[in-house]
Amino acid sequence: MIQFDHVSKRYPGGHEALIDLELEIRHGELLVLAGHSGAGKSTLLKLIAALEAPSSGRVLVNGLDVGRMRRSQVPYLRRSLGLVMQEHRLLMDRTVFDNVLLPLIVSGERPSDAHARVRVALEKVGLGEFEKAMPITLSGGEQQRVAIARAIVNRPSILIADEPTAHLDPAYAREIAALFRSFHAAGVTLILATHDDTLYSPYGARRVELAHGRLLA
Ligand code: ADP
Repeated sequence: MIQFDHVSKRYPGGHEALIDLELEIRHGELLVLAGHSGAGKSTLLKLIAALEAPSSGRVLVNGLDVGRMRRSQVPYLRRSLGLVMQEHRLLMDRTVFDNVLLPLIVSGERPSDAHARVRVALEKVGLGEFEKAMPITLSGGEQQRVAIARAIVNRPSILIADEPTAHLDPAYAREIAALFRSFHAAGVTLILATHDDTLYSPYGARRVELAHGRLLA
């Protein structure tokens, strides 16, 4: 479970991006975050992943206070979370395979196990044939699939995505949304920020909306 307990976030020199947020996300839930640009959606996702720390309040991920973790606890959090964030671009001078392998190298996986896992992840996103390709030769939708394979290669229990279909044409967006929903159907907790909640709301998603850093009722 993920719990926001009176969480506020103020960036240095900025105004409050999140204000006294109270939210619980249950294990296995599909949660869609809606809200205008600048509402605080990315900030909320970054707090779960400990890419930012709250200014006040607590963010608990499976009981771990991720704003105040010890350094030794970070790898544990990283292994349980898969991230598809806007700024986490692919390495364009590495193959698809190497891009997906990267998180496993970081987490110290044995090479033989890691290589097998990369192949499983690429199969899951429908890119089994593309492991030797360079990302630049792929379409936008295929590149997003590589980013998703990289996010799931550690078999996380929680998958977080920030506007994963924002720059895709509608047909690709529907394919990518279906892929995310398949991970949710397999039991993964899925949390997405999106402008298009119609990709998820007919499939049992809970929609919460942020406006100016506050949750709308
Ligand atoms: P959204 O994802 O809904 O567009 P964000 O979480 O990106 O919203 O931003 C919320 C607010 O925090 C905005 O006012 C934005 O300008 C501000 N903000 C986001 N990141 C930073 C940062 N690194 N430094 C300063 N202000 C930021």
